[in-house]
Amino acid sequence: MPAKIISGKDVSASVKARIKTEAEVFTAKTGIAPGLAVIIVGEDPASQIYVRNKHKACKDMGFASFEHTLPESTTEAELLSLIAKLNSDDSVHGILVQMPLPKHINENAVINAINPDKDVDAFHPENVGHIMIGDYKFLPGTPAGVMELLASENIDITGKNCVVIGRSNIVGKPMSMLLLHKHGTVTICHSRTKNLPEITRGADILVAAIGKLGFVTADMVKEGAIVIDVGINRTAEGKVRGDVDFDSVSEKASYITPVPGGVGPMTIAMLMLNTLTAAKIFAKTI
Ligand code: NDP
Repeated sequence: MPAKIISGKDVSASVKARIKTEAEVFTAKTGIAPGLAVIIVGEDPASQIYVRNKHKACKDMGFASFEHTLPESTTEAELLSLIAKLNSDDSVHGILVQMPLPKHINENAVINAINPDKDVDAFHPENVGHIMIGDYKFLPGTPAGVMELLASENIDITGKNCVVIGRSNIVGKPMSMLLLHKHGTVTICHSRTKNLPEITRGADILVAAIGKLGFVTADMVKEGAIVIDVGINRTAEGKVRGDVDFDSVSEKASYITPVPGGVGPMTIAMLMLNTLTAAKIFAKTI
């Protein structure tokens, strides 16, 4: 039987509706409209699309949205000085710096400069530490979005073999930690992993966050597995597709997320949730 498709489009719409209602109550009570500042340096076309989508999501939520578009030639000092300004701006509750940054700017220095209470990407070491401990205010959007997708189907993670392919700081590592918090038995795989297909075939829940078109094929997946595709890749024809070979894997899996329309829309929804949380932290209501 073909897999049930978990629609990130539908789940994100209901998550956003929930956040919007919650934000309206918050604003009515405090007079504060949650505000998100997004900084983009340079002209990476994919980044420009992501920034535009974030701006649109803010508008839909009734949030204030501040866009800072800086030229490729911006120095690290100039970027850090803008972050310092936004850190002390009371109308800005969340700050997001769109990655990747130009090579001459140190990403860690930039992440470390953001006030952890405004760090809606949850990349600051202080927030990463909170996530590790399991006592956090912000979760990074993509792994948090995956957890929402699993929850939307009432999938119980307890005791399940969870295999995450990818160990990046923004997806693979926090994803593994969130599955662990929900009592999964987690294996993290990466480019040096030996016998990868053997490991993935043992997965009850398989998360692909690699960045390689169609990397996960049906022979790597157990019958009835739950397959979550985080990857965003372009085909030779310019179509957006994931890390999972959807056509073959969907014949074998019990649940699968599509690309586009899977994890992607969830990432933005969770960013909106973090922006509302940041506004609540500012207002001292949490
Ligand atoms: P990175 O490039 O930072 O990480 C990729 C990971 O995949 C690395 O850990 C790498 O291993 C591993 N990997 C690469 N090749 C192999 C291989 N042959 N076998 C096993 N593991 C391998 O990417 P990100 O984590 O930032 O993103 C992953 C994908 O998710 C990308 O397609 C990205 O566009 C997408 N993405 C989607 C988002 C969304 O909203 N849907 C948000 C963020 C990312 P190693 O560490 O050893 O190099």
